[in-house]
Amino acid sequence: MTLKPFEICSIRPPTENQSLTFRLTRNCYWNKCTFCPVYKLGARFSRRSIDDIKADIEAARRLNIMLDGSSGNTFHKGRQDPATLYQNARKLVQQLQASSEMATETGAPDSPATVNSQWADDPQVGWFMQWFKDNTGIADSIDHLVNWRLGGGRNCFLGDADSLILTPDFLKEVIDAVRCGFPSIHRFTVYGRTVTAARIRSLAEMRAFRQAGLNRVHYGVESGSDTVLKNVRKGESKDDHITGCLKTKEAGLSCSIYVMPGLGGQQFSKEHAEETADMITRAAPDFVRLRTLQVFAHSPLAGQLKSGTFQEASEEQVVLEIRRMVEKIDAPTQIMSDSATNLLQVNGRLPEDRLAMLNIIDAYLVLARMPKKIFSLQARLEAFQGQYGGFSEDIYTKLIPFVTNGELDIEAMPEPKIDELILLIRSKLMP
Ligand code: SF4
Repeated sequence: MTLKPFEICSIRPPTENQSLTFRLTRNCYWNKCTFCPVYKLGARFSRRSIDDIKADIEAARRLNIMLDGSSGNTFHKGRQDPATLYQNARKLVQQLQASSEMATETGAPDSPATVNSQWADDPQVGWFMQWFKDNTGIADSIDHLVNWRLGGGRNCFLGDADSLILTPDFLKEVIDAVRCGFPSIHRFTVYGRTVTAARIRSLAEMRAFRQAGLNRVHYGVESGSDTVLKNVRKGESKDDHITGCLKTKEAGLSCSIYVMPGLGGQQFSKEHAEETADMITRAAPDFVRLRTLQVFAHSPLAGQLKSGTFQEASEEQVVLEIRRMVEKIDAPTQIMSDSATNLLQVNGRLPEDRLAMLNIIDAYLVLARMPKKIFSLQARLEAFQGQYGGFSEDIYTKLIPFVTNGELDIEAMPEPKIDELILLIRSKLMP
């Protein structure tokens, strides 16, 4: 059998960054949300056959065994030395790239790199394409396995955008195959749309997903305001969010939602926050994850921003939205700021950590204008480094004139430079 790379889910929740991933569908069948650039660069939706998916699982299994070189399967014996693992990975990539038995790419169709090459010169698109791999090479597959092992080797994410459209039987067949090839995996998660959970899947089917081995569904709900949801063409309502989340929990699945501060723009900022708090109170998801809006080049929202039909909320307005939510949510849940898009680290359990979270927010709000900007730049630089492990060349070039004796002096930066850098960093954060 020819060895081949396996397809991976580049777009996945931050908590699944070190999960092993398999693609059950490709991209998003909805693809209409105005803020979402993810699949608008040209990648198209497709379903994959069970045979294709099983071939990927088998390819991953074989590559995983080969990663141990001649030392036997050390991973499953509980020994994991990162230096040896990286060394083995480098050797394996070289060996396979030189081998005629090796297919070099997965051959996933509709790669945006080729479909929308007219945007190739746009720096934001170029940056995004470094991370979005619709067509996986052998080095990507092996890096993915290394990353999964270094993360403990226990989690698996099954993508892409809404795996609840698959039947529980189909998901069970996939999960069984993954378990067979990767016995260390104990948690399976998917992205879902609440409209699918609310209107397409019965409670019995949601329970069958749980029985099949699924543990958690991540929903990008973004807002509880029907006005905002309609404006951004989410294709889901507040009621869908509430019904979908309640059904998910009733089925015994963990329910994790993503909320997008800033999505209402200036005009609907207050309504967005209040309706989202109310939706969360009624849906009581296990986790509420904040992921602040970043307007991405070539998204429909970027067009609306340009034409003036959408006015972006200021950083302070976004923080006020989060404050309103933290203050008003009246349900036990866990708030998490686990995205580099967020300005503040607001993390904690409600109701018990409410005061501590409000204190973090208020400490920012009481700052004067310039200290707020300096704080923002510092926070953005730290988040960027945390996500990417360093600075990109364009950020570095802008910082260099303000570095003395190895120390960055943000206070010496003129205000327009600070604004420029904040914008540049935000433009590089993954949506
Ligand atoms: S936000 Fe989700 S549902 Fe909307 S277009 Fe993007 S991937 Fe599809």
